[in-house]
Amino acid sequence: MSEPITREIDRSQMQISDEVAIEIHKMNKWYGTFHVLRDIDLTVHRGERIVIAGPSGSGKSTLIRCINRLEEHQAGRIVVDGVELTSDIKNIDKVRSEVGMVFQHFNLFPHLTVLENCTLAPIWVRKIPRKQAEATAMRYLEKVKIPDQALKYPGQLSGGQQQRVAIARSLCMQPRIMLFDEPTSALDPEMIKEVLDTMIELAEEGMTMLCVTHEMGFAQAVANRVIFMDQGQIVEQNNPHDFFHNPRSERTKLFLSQIL
Ligand code: ADP
Ligand code: MG
Repeated sequence: MSEPITREIDRSQMQISDEVAIEIHKMNKWYGTFHVLRDIDLTVHRGERIVIAGPSGSGKSTLIRCINRLEEHQAGRIVVDGVELTSDIKNIDKVRSEVGMVFQHFNLFPHLTVLENCTLAPIWVRKIPRKQAEATAMRYLEKVKIPDQALKYPGQLSGGQQQRVAIARSLCMQPRIMLFDEPTSALDPEMIKEVLDTMIELAEEGMTMLCVTHEMGFAQAVANRVIFMDQGQIVEQNNPHDFFHNPRSERTKLFLSQIL
């Protein structure tokens, strides 16, 4: 199911720089004996907006979770903003502070207000004074168009509002890269658009983004590259026009015939 993107998109700041944001080379990962990611090679430049598509179980979530070390890879290299991900906790902390992540199920703290969700990490991890963290959080809550919900608890909000809080919470750490793992998959159809609109605005501001999503309207309108994964491998990647209109592999064709 895919939401058409109806509004004009401002591409003036969507520039892709020569600077490499993420470099993945011959990366392999196993869950026990199950070989989940196979020889992943991927270079992401600053300003790129990449959509990762593929059937359920193909390894999309595992790949993006490896990029901020929510999962550990066993072979090959992952370098984020010039920092290689190894077991060195200093590197992991550095990378996590540069990379924001938004999940399918929001993962907000239910016992904290919206504002507290947004200020927790800036205050305790970044050591930012509370007043300043709150001012920043309010700025981002305005950006995602829910400043009036700041003192409510997540359970009092709609799914679309909760996901926008999750995006605002990530932005409060001022990441240089944003990872999205099916951010609209748990939402009722009428709430998908408000979350996609927030993501489009981020793209328009030049954020480097990797999005696992089935929203092919978003992919067509916003992505500069679509990556198709199957069985733990990157099978095909292309610009959205050619990806959708001229898929090369049989697996991609089959996938597209099922979702479009
Ligand atoms: P996708 O996001 O494309 O649906 P995932 O990355 O979630 O795929 O999963 C890829 C494969 O790895 C699936 O077969 C899944 O069952 C398996 N898997 C995912 N997480 C774990 C885990 N923690 N332990 C063992 N197997 C896992
Ligand atoms: Mg997944």
